[in-house]
Amino acid sequence: MSDSAVLAAEDIKVHFPLTTDWPWQSAPMLRAVDGATLSLTAGRTLGLVGESGCGKSTLARALTGLAPITAGRLHLDGRDITRGGARDWQALRRDVQMIFQDPLASLDPRMTVAQIIAEPLANLRRDLSRAERRRRVADMVERVGLSKSQMGRYPHEFSGGQCQRIGIARALVVEPRVLVCDEPVSALDVSIQARIVDLLMELQRETQVAMLFIAHDLAVVRQISDEVRVMYLGNVMEQAGAAALFDQPRHPYTRALLSAVPRPDLAAERARQRIQLPGDLPSPANPPSGCVFRTRCPWATDVCSQRIPALRTLAGGQVACHHAERVMAESAAAA
Ligand code: SF4
Repeated sequence: MSDSAVLAAEDIKVHFPLTTDWPWQSAPMLRAVDGATLSLTAGRTLGLVGESGCGKSTLARALTGLAPITAGRLHLDGRDITRGGARDWQALRRDVQMIFQDPLASLDPRMTVAQIIAEPLANLRRDLSRAERRRRVADMVERVGLSKSQMGRYPHEFSGGQCQRIGIARALVVEPRVLVCDEPVSALDVSIQARIVDLLMELQRETQVAMLFIAHDLAVVRQISDEVRVMYLGNVMEQAGAAALFDQPRHPYTRALLSAVPRPDLAAERARQRIQLPGDLPSPANPPSGCVFRTRCPWATDVCSQRIPALRTLAGGQVACHHAERVMAESAAAA
């Protein structure tokens, strides 16, 4: 855990019991997140990528206190929240805010923009006077690129991009230390996506908020992230600085994800060889033995089914793969 981390997760697990046909049967556990360690630092962004169902959103919800943590520790400013009391959880709710994927669905249709943005202030900053809350709401509306004249309108009167700006204002108005963005641009048109990403980067420069940015679009993740983490079936497969991870992936799964990203250069795009992974994502209720990626991995050998690969340092990043050196060497030779 980094000393400068605002929020740090240490081997966090989020398991849910599944229902059974008969009451005397023991319930199998769905391992949505099965050991995630990460640190979020002021003014920096950690990107989180992986297929749908890999546990990204559950991890995001666990970090904000919205999903129960089964095991592991969550530290806010070095204090262990998981062993703390109501005050610590209250601090987490104030200091860690979330932006959701569907901007319109995340806003209460019966409330005006001003009421939506003021709500977290009323709940989490009771120390502020009403006049100060009103001033902060008006200021926040302008900082996200809306106008004060729009404060009395309702969410359905806005476009998707404008609704996401309202969601960002609602999250930032309490001056959180950490912003967890769960696919904040996935539901938006490409041109709007770029503006929302630019807005988040600008607001981060101003406020130095630490960000966790979850997205499917790897190009967007590369643009906004300082570091990137790749998840598969609730486990971290690889982590590295953004440039290092995109230029020199160490894990077979990362390579497969990156091979699907279109290239702007026409010649490079024509030469691009897409790595097709066989089969579907296994069930997190019944993960494969050993390496959880082995049932779809082109490099799998016997040892992969017998031993869980630990996250280890390699070429300036960290990777959970028994054969990462071979994967990197063969990839370099094929390039
Ligand atoms: S440990 Fe084995 S199965 Fe897992 S990613 Fe590496 S080569 Fe593939």
